[in-house]
Amino acid sequence: MTPGKLAIVVPCYNEQEVLPQSLPVLQKVLQQLIDKQLVKDDSKIVFVDDGSTDTTWSLIEQASHLNQAVAGVKLSRNFGHQGALLAGLSVVADADLTITIDSDLQDDPTAMIAMVEKYYEGNEVVYGVRNNRDSDSRFKRTTAEMFYKVMGFLGVNLVPDSADFRLLSQRATRVLLSYPEKNLFLRGLVPLVGFKSDKVYYRRHERAAGTSKYPLYKMLHFAIDGITSFSVAPIKLIMSLGLLIVGISLVLLIYTIIQKMRGDVVSGWSSLMVSIWALGGIQLICISVIGEYVGKIFNEVKGRPRFTIEKNLYNKTKNEQGEN
Ligand code: UDP
Ligand code: MG
Repeated sequence: MTPGKLAIVVPCYNEQEVLPQSLPVLQKVLQQLIDKQLVKDDSKIVFVDDGSTDTTWSLIEQASHLNQAVAGVKLSRNFGHQGALLAGLSVVADADLTITIDSDLQDDPTAMIAMVEKYYEGNEVVYGVRNNRDSDSRFKRTTAEMFYKVMGFLGVNLVPDSADFRLLSQRATRVLLSYPEKNLFLRGLVPLVGFKSDKVYYRRHERAAGTSKYPLYKMLHFAIDGITSFSVAPIKLIMSLGLLIVGISLVLLIYTIIQKMRGDVVSGWSSLMVSIWALGGIQLICISVIGEYVGKIFNEVKGRPRFTIEKNLYNKTKNEQGEN
């Protein structure tokens, strides 16, 4: 087995508090991998600055000057976690294997060793799967569970409790990059890539420092994006719901006519009010679901870039890096 070149891709958005902690940890694991001759000694850790407004980029630049194994990519603005991951992967396409990991040390970097070992067993995709959720609030745990259930029900193939901590072979990375979609939900896309895959279990920790860059509203958006990017089942559901309601209203219509013939008209007021409100609500929900898909089509049709790279310290020699 000849060791391959590894690139560890780390998206960072306003992570100045945590980077000084995660950098040495990641470096240490990379060194271990090199010492064990699992990866080549020109392997790299590539930090992707996703349009941070704090000192994240200067920290990355500094680290890359001091250490040959560290490189950075700066995006022109904030493109979001998924965009940043893809940007990083596009830059390191020459690496034989890539691992993506969050910058906050929540994912256990030492699990990378087991991941790389699985790669040499012939796996092209290795998912990091967390075997605990105690670092999450009860709310996040229940909603995450519900999300995986809904996705499963809609027939979308996800690996439960796996986030964006995973290893990809060069081939798998290229296939992933060839998917043209703008509404990125990598967790759903990676299983579509195919090839032999395996899982590595790890304990997920609390964030080492700083705060979560995924507030509740962003998480909700992410979940809705995940569902509507991968399944048209909600649209089909609307159709069945509509048919059911038409059926019910037909029965009601017959009932109303009978009541009218009996001369019993005024008493219908309450049922009328209830149906107006109920139908109004259902219609609004249905329109918003359709709107979600129309919006998605709109985004895809515009064909805007998924990320824009402003600076790239990965594909440069040490000298050139200084000029940036
Ligand atoms: N992140 C990013 N762009 C964003 C939001 C987050 O690159 O717009 C990065 C962030 O720096 C971190 C990773 O994505 O490395 C996961 O984010 P975070 O830890 O805040 O999410 P949580 O773990 O709380 O779900
Ligand atoms: Mg985190």
